[in-house]
Amino acid sequence: MTSQRTRDRMVERLIDQGIVDARVLEVMAAEPRHLFVDEALAHRAYEDTALPIGYGQTLSQPFIVARMTELVLKANPRRVLEVGTGSGYQALVLSRLVPTLYSVERIVTLGERAVGRLSSLDARVNLAIADGGEGWPGGHTFDVILLTACAQTLPKALLEQLGRHGVLIAPLEAPDGSQWLTQVKRIGGAFEKRRLEPVRFVPLLQGVVD
Ligand code: SAH
Repeated sequence: MTSQRTRDRMVERLIDQGIVDARVLEVMAAEPRHLFVDEALAHRAYEDTALPIGYGQTLSQPFIVARMTELVLKANPRRVLEVGTGSGYQALVLSRLVPTLYSVERIVTLGERAVGRLSSLDARVNLAIADGGEGWPGGHTFDVILLTACAQTLPKALLEQLGRHGVLIAPLEAPDGSQWLTQVKRIGGAFEKRRLEPVRFVPLLQGVVD
């Protein structure tokens, strides 16, 4: 259930679902998603579903990881920040495809586990344990900022860390409670916002917790 054949079937499904970027498909066909969930769940790692990773958090379904990665790559970025490392799987996929990746997680234990998994796979990711709503600690600007948790309003600190022509991709909650994958482009001093598609994510929360 964690074999190459299972991964290939997942990739065939991603193609059926409309993922077209060959780089994304290639990386997801090669990388071991099953190492990013509990051993007891490893046999379900390549199913078309989100999976629990502890602390009430979830690893998104393969389609969402692929879709978000496609959106990130469209911006042809050099420096990318992910907010919400979680299991580390989305970070692993991105780390194979973008020159420099930063990722921040607020739950200490999840962050530490992700560090272990990513380093054992030789993934180049700069990880921090911090409240990502405050931006990357110490500052920096990014070509793309990707949120993997749903915000009610776009954190100002993150918009400020968008570089010139930077793009922020985030699930955003509408007043009626529905969530939309949203893309925000920085154009000079202005931000152009575009709704993409309905999604379901855990909430972006504040502060750092054990
Ligand atoms: N990208 C992850 C998905 C994890 S779910 C993966 O591939 O597994 C979303 C994650 O966002 C959770 O781990 C949650 O703790 C984290 N998160 C929520 N609010 C955050 C914040 N303000 N700063 C950093 N991480 C946050």
